[in-house]
Amino acid sequence: MEIVDIKDWGIGLSEHVLIAGPCSAESPDQIESIAKGLRGSNIEMFRAGVWKPRTRPGSFEGIGSEALGWLEKAREILNVPLTVEVANTAHAEAALKAGIDVLWIGARTTVNPFSVQEICEALRGTDIPVMVKNPINPDLQLWLGAIERLNKVGINKVAAIHRGFSDPYEKRYRNKPEWSMPIHLKRMLPGISVICDPSHIAGTREIIASVSQRAINFGLDGLMIETHHDPDNAWSDAKQQVTPETLQIIYENLNFRETLDKHPEAISELDEFRQKIDLVDTQIIELLSDRFQMIKQIGEYKREHNLAVYQPNRWHDVMESRINSGVKKNMTEKFMKSFLFAVHEESVKMQEAQLKEKV
Ligand code: PEP
Ligand code: MN
Repeated sequence: MEIVDIKDWGIGLSEHVLIAGPCSAESPDQIESIAKGLRGSNIEMFRAGVWKPRTRPGSFEGIGSEALGWLEKAREILNVPLTVEVANTAHAEAALKAGIDVLWIGARTTVNPFSVQEICEALRGTDIPVMVKNPINPDLQLWLGAIERLNKVGINKVAAIHRGFSDPYEKRYRNKPEWSMPIHLKRMLPGISVICDPSHIAGTREIIASVSQRAINFGLDGLMIETHHDPDNAWSDAKQQVTPETLQIIYENLNFRETLDKHPEAISELDEFRQKIDLVDTQIIELLSDRFQMIKQIGEYKREHNLAVYQPNRWHDVMESRINSGVKKNMTEKFMKSFLFAVHEESVKMQEAQLKEKV
């Protein structure tokens, strides 16, 4: 798959892209106030939603195409490209006609291959850059699929936006980050930039700075942060929008750590530690393999004596004692639990297979 690096899109984007602007375009004055507030900031692209995909009807659904023209003012004031969300053919055609520079596909659209394909058909033959938000559910294939569909109609200037995933049990975030997902996507699509949208992950403005820093720590390539001159009175996503002043403070406080390719001396120093890690990993694998050998012997015994594979009391004792030992050695309870669950699940599977083998 051919992907043009975001820095080569020809619209002045850097290796730490900052996209800012309101959740929704509300009025020409609102756009102008926000753009003026962003003057002198590090903004590289101005965003605004003109068609708003609302989960339930009854809230503000966006102004529609009329607002596309209002965005020109932001481009004039800030001299940066404009981006809007498109969700169907009519949106894509209107945005192209209005000269919008970059499009994005929203989370509720990425989940639907029919909608994605419809947008792709409307863009066929153009060279417009498109950013694809992750689907609301943590399905890497859908995210990947949308990017591939764009590529198939000749759109090579593609990037991804990580905006978190819906999870009914999640309390801290509006959308659970699942950082492994954007990292996995980057591994599967070398050359793709992934921009983090901490606003939709956080849901509240207080934790946008910390989510942004984590995105940078995980090696993501930029940020899209909802920005409004009067966030509390925004017509959509009021709680998560920040003022242009706060945006700049957040940005200036970010710690963009250097990547290793710029520091060859660090590579050799780190190498020493890495060799030790390699050795420890080898030992862990040996020990795990010994453990599974014993599991097999126990499985054999259970089969011969017609005992159930899963012995709840034993499992409870193992969990409790190992978690305690792990915590004493400065590992978290969460990590110990997931590690032990993985080992136990594998053990149960092995013993089940042994039972099947002999019947
Ligand atoms: C938005 O960016 O305002 C938006 C609707 O986002 P998402 O598609 O991530 O929910
Ligand atoms: Mn929003």
